[in-house]
Parts: sequence; C-alpha cells; structure tokens
Amino acid sequence: SNKPLLPTTEALRALDQAHHLHPFTDVGAYQKSGGRIVTRGEHIYFYDSEGSKVLDGMSGLWCCNLGYSQPKIVEAIHEQLQVLPFYNNFFQCSNDMAVKMAEAMAQVTPEHLNHVFFTNSGSEANDTNIKIVHRYYQILGKPEKKHFIARNNAYHGSTVAASSLSGMTFMHDQYTGIDYVHHIQQPYYFGEGGDLTPEEFGLQAARELEKKIEELGEDKVAAFIAEPIQGAGGVIIPPDTYWPEIQRICNEHDILLISDEVICGFGRTGSWFGCQTYGFKPDLMTFAKAVTNGFQALGGVMISDKIAEVLAQGKGDFAHGMTYSGHPVACAAGLATLDILRSQHTIENMAKEIGPYFEQRWKSLEDHPIVGEARAKNMVAALELVKHKGSKERLAPNAAASIVCRDQAIKEGLLVRAVGEAMVCAPPIVCSKQDIDTIIERMFRALDYTA
Ligand code: PLP
Repeated sequence: SNKPLLPTTEALRALDQAHHLHPFTDVGAYQKSGGRIVTRGEHIYFYDSEGSKVLDGMSGLWCCNLGYSQPKIVEAIHEQLQVLPFYNNFFQCSNDMAVKMAEAMAQVTPEHLNHVFFTNSGSEANDTNIKIVHRYYQILGKPEKKHFIARNNAYHGSTVAASSLSGMTFMHDQYTGIDYVHHIQQPYYFGEGGDLTPEEFGLQAARELEKKIEELGEDKVAAFIAEPIQGAGGVIIPPDTYWPEIQRICNEHDILLISDEVICGFGRTGSWFGCQTYGFKPDLMTFAKAVTNGFQALGGVMISDKIAEVLAQGKGDFAHGMTYSGHPVACAAGLATLDILRSQHTIENMAKEIGPYFEQRWKSLEDHPIVGEARAKNMVAALELVKHKGSKERLAPNAAASIVCRDQAIKEGLLVRAVGEAMVCAPPIVCSKQDIDTIIERMFRALDYTA
C-alpha cells in the first residue's frame, strides 16, 4: 500500500524547490509553488508522495510503453551490473552487450537499416544525425550539402543542435539555433488545413519541402528530418498523402530522409516503427525512450547500408561519441525490452486489438460539446478544445482551457498533457480494454468540468 507521508512530502518539496532546476519548467513559479513528487510506479499507474494513484496516460514521458512493472528488464539490469557495470566502445574496443544490442536493433528495424550509433538520449541521437550527414557528404566531396530542413512545431530534443532542429517558437525565443537549419509547415490539418480536403492538404504541406529545397538549392540541402507523427507538438497525425509525397521529393532531389522515431518507435503507431506505419524508407532513424521501456538512458541512430558504406570509406576517426555510447547496462535493458516485445509479440497483438479499440474509444470523445476534433493513431491521440462544435473558435485565450482540463484530469486520476489548445494522450501499449474505458471516462469527466 502507498501510505500518505505528508511530512516527508513537505520536506521533499522544499528541498526540490531549493536545489533542483527542472527541465521545461518555469523556474520562478516552481520555486514558489512546487509540484507533484512521484514515488512509485506499478503497471500503468504511478503514485505520488501524498498517496494519489494516477493512471499514466503519457507512459512516463512517452517511454514506459510496457508500463512500470517489468521484472525481466529489472533483472537484466541487475545481472549486468554484477558482470560488467561499465565498459566503453571508444578506440577500437567494444563491450559484448553493445554488440548484442546492435545486432538486435538491426533485426527489429527495417531491412536496410543495419548499423547503429548509440547515444544516451534522443537529443544526442539527433546531434549525431547532423554529424553523420555532414561526414557523409564530406567523404562524398560535397561539403556544401549541409543544410537541414525540419518542420514548425517539431520536437527533436533540447541540446543546442537538437533544439535548432526542433521547430517550437518558445524554444527558439531562447536560443538562436544553428544557421543551417530551416523549417517548413507541419501537416496540421485541423489547424492549417483551411478549405482543402485532408488529401489535398497532405500534398500541399509535403510540397513545402520541395519549395524549400528549390529556394536553398538542391546542392546545398543535406537532409529532411521529421517525426512520422509529431508527438510533443500536439500529436499531429499527417493525412495519408503526406509521407509518400515526402518520400518522392527526397528521392528526386537527392535529400537524405531522417525519421525521428523517439516517440513513434517500438509500437506506438501500430507497427514497430512509424516509418512502417506510413510506408516510407528513411536513410537514418533516431530512437530512444521506449527502447529500454524508459528504465535506462539509451538512444541512438540507425544508419542505412548506403550511408554506412560511405562512412567506411572516410579516412581517420569519425570524431564523435559519448562516454556512455553503448553502455552495457543500458544495452542489457534494451535487449530485455526487445526480447519481451519479440517473444510476446506485444506490438503485433496490440495493433490487432487494443490499438484499434483505443482509437475508436478516443474518437468517441468527439461527441463532447467542447471537442472540435478527436484524433488517434493506434496508441497515440489528441483532442482539440473549442468553444462550439463545428467552429474552431477556442474556449479561452492563451490555451487556458487545456491547462484546466489537464489539472482536472489529474484530479480524476488520469495524467494527460496539454499542448497548446490540445489534450494529448499516449498510454502504455499494455493497457487492457478496461483500462482504456477508464481513460475515456476520466477524460470525459475532465472535459465536462472544463466546459
Ligand atoms: N525526438 C523526439 C521525437 C522526441 O519526442 C524527443 C523527446 O521527447 C526527443 C527527440 C529528445 O529525446 P531526449 O529527451 O531523450 O533527449
């Protein structure tokens, strides 16, 4: 049982406010108000220091896809710590767990992606993408092909380079970003589709890429990076016409295509990877988060045979790497996670039953008077809050309604996120139908309160 520990909570909160600077948090406001302190996780629930039990509709931070109770991953971590708690992969050296994890990643990812560079996070993996792409064109004798195109409202991480790739204005207000990154429209039909059909809009949004390539010059553009479904930007599910057109443009203009699968990877969209759901073939693929079910810090880049062959022709070291690239304990956690997914066919089973059930139940939220659109793809979903059904007028200025809705959902025992005017949900893929019914009931009550 999770007994309330009130004095401890107060003490913890005071220390947190005094000493701990939090990511993506208003520093001054937090030092005044403090926040929730989570102390325990079990299956799809977390518990806080005051004893509240909350259904985690965000799978941690889109990472604990199998929930919090996975003893096989824990055992693998424990065992690895006893055998080899650390060894690096620098300077003509390797460790056995990194080797095994590299092979496993080559097996579970699309056929042409057979090489991996390990990092600790998605941000570092996207930085790695930039360095791999620059090295690739340098070896090919085309160093001027160095510009990257990304999308408005994308999230690719928060290191200097990854936040440059990210397209969120509130991030760019604080960092200028690197000057060879450019942004184009996102395929956000509800917000930007106007009078077009989704199919027409999908093509139009994709052709923004072609325009940008023509503007910069094909010989200067290295790569296009995008999430199959934009996650942190508000679960922007592209129209079906979008990805095939992006693929065509990249092929015709000789632009590398990078799929950032940090959220979409490992089952979220109904296939192992989002590029499989949408049928495109990336040259590079970023992964992190659910690769270890969030239990250890691990990320990386999957590299196509085409790029790996060129990198192998380069003279001298590829000047890049982190001390913990291919950390044996993180790789042990990754191997155990992949082993569960493969041996239990978790993704395939979920995509047959639970994914479609969640989609259908989530879309039923569109019946609520303040929901302008409820969209879902397998186990990732969003809804748009509006004043009146049929109009796109917002409920309150400055996205205040979504904050009210999020705070009420927590009181109802459900964690969802507020992104602008949207509510976002990405529950563990191991939810049962009953768990999903619970999510929908709680969400509905939070919407009632918000209205
Ligand atoms: N890419 C995407 C699509 C993400 O959603 C995230 C994190 O949410 C990142 C990259 C950054 O990953 P990390 O926070 O592990 O650096």
